Amino acid sequence: MTHILTDLIKALTNGEVRVVDLTQPLGPDTPVIDLPPPFAPSPPLSKETISEYDDGGPAWYWNTIRLGEHTGTHFDAPVHWITGRDLPDNSTDTIPVAAFVGQACVIDVSAQVAKNPDFLLSSEDVLAWEAEHGRIPDGAWLLLRTGWSKRQGREAFLNPAEDGPHSPGFAVECARFLARDRGILGVGVETVGTDAGQAGTFDPPFPTHTFMHGAGKFGLTSLINLDQLPSTGAVVIAAPLKIVRGSGSPLRVLALAPAAR
Ligand code: MN
Repeated sequence: MTHILTDLIKALTNGEVRVVDLTQPLGPDTPVIDLPPPFAPSPPLSKETISEYDDGGPAWYWNTIRLGEHTGTHFDAPVHWITGRDLPDNSTDTIPVAAFVGQACVIDVSAQVAKNPDFLLSSEDVLAWEAEHGRIPDGAWLLLRTGWSKRQGREAFLNPAEDGPHSPGFAVECARFLARDRGILGVGVETVGTDAGQAGTFDPPFPTHTFMHGAGKFGLTSLINLDQLPSTGAVVIAAPLKIVRGSGSPLRVLALAPAAR
């Protein structure tokens, strides 16, 4: 009755299936998205020791943490955007948990992004990928492999300029296409947010957030190690904290991937 899970445990034990960590370290130096005034900034993580084997707690160590819900590797819930405000089950505590496990479709555009940090995925790119790998199944994550997570330090990662940040993402028409014409869970990216750095200037602004959350879909950001996943066939486990009416949350994102590539 449980043979599939028994086989999975065997495969995890003998290394046929690997657990890949898709999560950035979460600390005070973790880069957080920078919004121009008058928009309210999200604070970086700060940490205060409650006790560390001392008078406050002779045998125990623990901390208080303060951070924005959208810090580091994190999950975007539909309620995060005004377009998803009135949808049912739109926050971290009400999304059905089955949505937290799904297969990964990885589109590799790292070569294009190496030449152009403002690269935008188009629906033609998606269709070209599908011609090779098959249609993106319902309930899958579309993970955009850009190589961006290899950038070291806040400056290189956020890549700010006079005219705002420059980082890759999705073209307006592609965001609309993915939201309306594919049954994906959402999109996952290596950058600080699911929208491109320049997306504030697009029409509509921040189209990935606008269309995806308006369609009840999710986002995953600041992912790493996407280069360790096959184009298809990996399973993503991404469960946000059950924050009551949470708009998102930092989380540990794991992938189960075949050892042989
Ligand atoms: Mn977010």
